[in-house]
Amino acid sequence: MFGWSSVSSAASLRTIFSMAMAALGFSTLVAVVALVSISHYMHQAVTAMMTATESVHTAEEMEVDLLVHDRMSDGMGRAQLEGQLRGWLLEIRSHVDSVEEERLVDEVAAQVDIYLRQSRQESSASVSGQPPSVDLSPALEDAFLPLEELVHLNVRQARATARRAARWDRIANYFGLGVASVLVLTVGFVLLWIRLFALRSVLTLETAMRSFAEGDKAARAPVEGARELRDIATRFNEMAAALARQYDNQIAFLGGVVHDLRNPLSVLKLSTETLRPDRPPPSADKVQRTLGLVRRQVERLERMLEDLLDAARVEGGHLELRLSQRDLREICREVLDAFRESTNKHELQLSLPEAPLMLAVDPLRIEQVLTNLVSNAIKYSPQGGLVRVALESQERQALLSVADQGIGISEQDRGHIFEPFRRTGASRDLVPGAGMGLFVARRIVEAHGGRIEVRSEPSAGTCFLVHLPKFAPRGA
Ligand code: ADP
Repeated sequence: MFGWSSVSSAASLRTIFSMAMAALGFSTLVAVVALVSISHYMHQAVTAMMTATESVHTAEEMEVDLLVHDRMSDGMGRAQLEGQLRGWLLEIRSHVDSVEEERLVDEVAAQVDIYLRQSRQESSASVSGQPPSVDLSPALEDAFLPLEELVHLNVRQARATARRAARWDRIANYFGLGVASVLVLTVGFVLLWIRLFALRSVLTLETAMRSFAEGDKAARAPVEGARELRDIATRFNEMAAALARQYDNQIAFLGGVVHDLRNPLSVLKLSTETLRPDRPPPSADKVQRTLGLVRRQVERLERMLEDLLDAARVEGGHLELRLSQRDLREICREVLDAFRESTNKHELQLSLPEAPLMLAVDPLRIEQVLTNLVSNAIKYSPQGGLVRVALESQERQALLSVADQGIGISEQDRGHIFEPFRRTGASRDLVPGAGMGLFVARRIVEAHGGRIEVRSEPSAGTCFLVHLPKFAPRGA
């Protein structure tokens, strides 16, 4: 059944206002139709009462004329009155509106005829000097009787019409009250609904927004009220959750950066301790080892800062590609050679096509992508093992893959590793990093019109696939 709660919970602002407008429109239409009908009926009632009054008036005029005629001795005057009487009869007939009235008017006409005939006979007798042979009074009385009845009938009709009009007047009053109540109730319902549901939802939403803006990251708006308001509350809650997540990520990221910076910094500090002037000079061999250590830590710091800078550039949309035709095989060789120098725990394997694979790329950026993937493959294979880099020339694209036999990535984490600041739980404590490498790598590949995907098995290894189209429209 259509109830208040269903209105409050399921209806939309538009539905409620449409319903209110429809109710108001319908009430107005009904009121107009009723007013037209009542005014039409009142007009009919007034016409009926006027006709009855006219009939009564004419019947009384006839009675007067009949009496005057009866008393008159002048022949000319009588003839004139007879004409007038016939005129009244015609008028009375024009007001007839019922069978009974018609019967009475016929009777009046017949009796008046009888009276007039007798009165003519009486006049001709008095002219010839004969004694009057006709007694007029009964004929006059006979003519008066239907006339009186006609008067009573019209009075009765007028009274009945007046009673009906009074009844309609009462109905019109009740009806007016009813329509006014419907209008007031509709307006009241809309106002109450706005007060109870629309306004309350807006207020709670506003409170939640204010709390969130003031720093309460857990503030959420209750999803209630009209559909549009519930949609707004849901959108706000989603936005607040996303912002809170981003905030948490940034805090975690800062923590990670600080943590990751601390390691090379403490190594640097220890190294400088060894070379302090107040200490006995270390052996040339130790100096060499320490300097090597310092160089690696500085490079590591540099790489981290580069990652951060790149991420900032990518986020700000300032990634620019300097495209040139390059053989991808060369880039792969250079990157792998650089890694071979620094690792002896891992076996680095490179598989290249025989023919040059020329592509319009930004060589430094592609190098950055590959470096990042190989560096990850090494980082996340702490036990060592095989890291395989393969380049393949396909019909429409170059396919670059980097596969390792490391810790792998769980299915749940796989969807998030390309997001900025994302570091998966397993790797977080294991290896240093800012969680920016893959985010930047993906943007670089996409800027080349390509895409990057990952396939992985936890504890078995990971394979990143970079698809670079041969004839794609490029844009940074
Ligand atoms: P970082 O390596 O600095 O943490 P990346 O953006 O390069 O940042 O990588 C994001 C996350 O993806 C890493 O923290 C790690 O959890 C996961 N990941 C990337 N490459 C590998 C890989 N070869 N094996 C396992 N996990 C990986």
